[in-house]
Amino acid sequence: MTSTVQRITVSPARRYSVVAGRRWPVEVRPAPGELLSSWLHRVAHANGVPPRYFGAVLGVAGETWSAQLDRHLPDAVRRFLLDHTSICPDEIDGLCLANSPLSTLRLRLRTRPQDAGTSTAQSCWLQFCPTCLREDEVPYFRRSWTLATRLSCFRHGCRLRDRCPSCGQSLAPFRQARLMSQQTCVFCDAPLTKPTGMVGQGIRRLERLVDDLVRLDTAGRVQDDQKSLAARLAKFPVPVGRARSTLPHLSHALRHDFFRRLSEGRTGIEKQKVHGPQTLWTRLANAAENHSGVVGVLADRLMETAGLERTSSPKPPDLTTLLQAAVRLLEGRRFPVEAWQVV
Ligand SMILES: [Zn+2]
Ligand SMILES: [Zn+2]
Repeated sequence: MTSTVQRITVSPARRYSVVAGRRWPVEVRPAPGELLSSWLHRVAHANGVPPRYFGAVLGVAGETWSAQLDRHLPDAVRRFLLDHTSICPDEIDGLCLANSPLSTLRLRLRTRPQDAGTSTAQSCWLQFCPTCLREDEVPYFRRSWTLATRLSCFRHGCRLRDRCPSCGQSLAPFRQARLMSQQTCVFCDAPLTKPTGMVGQGIRRLERLVDDLVRLDTAGRVQDDQKSLAARLAKFPVPVGRARSTLPHLSHALRHDFFRRLSEGRTGIEKQKVHGPQTLWTRLANAAENHSGVVGVLADRLMETAGLERTSSPKPPDLTTLLQAAVRLLEGRRFPVEAWQVV
């Protein structure tokens, strides 16, 4: 008698480690300009681990584990990430803030960053552009949003935020215990994408000038050079009511208000000594008013350095292009950087 039961063929699958090696199942590529902690949260999310518990996977303790890694990535964690993802050493180093010459200008990280929500004057460790987060295919946080001199999004022209528009707490994506997108507040679940208004033209001019000059000034300098423009801006006192603080310790609202007063010629530091350090802010604000003049001076100096005669052009030179050319010249010839600073 012949059996009518259908036979089932079972063939053993290849072991995961044979197929994928030691890598985690889902690969996540870093986005342009992404911050290390943002990438880590996305890696965790894609592989089914809420960010709050991913620090333990990496062997990192502390509530703010990923924000700490932004500022210091231990060798053991770096090797672990290189081992379990397809990221290459140069890429992972580029995501960190630790090796950046602008580290002194980064917003300060508190042990419990959500405490910043209790004081609207205190800085938060991370800002964000709500429109960028809304438009991102997969929302992510940018390294440039950690700079204290950044007030607006250079892409959209709108103000950044440093707190949830609903509950007022600072961002804490490392605390997220559920598999939620980074565009959602950890504390109240509200979307972080509520739009902000545009920044004023005067503020934007000053912000761009400071950003360009700081980047130019860092060329050829060693990290943590206390004479760099970034270090000087980071430690110069900013008047806040009757008190004084420094830019990396102030909230977005106070920094925006300071830049607005500077751009309107109301610095609150007029009575300082003529050669006091605070006058640098005033000089920068005055230079920003004459932005095209600064561009012209830079163009002349670059032409002179390159040994070329200036040609008349119907189109005004682009400052970003000029600064990039200047950086190449400075790196190649070790030209004294101080010569390019606005005086
Ligand atoms: Zn934006
Ligand atoms: Zn919230």
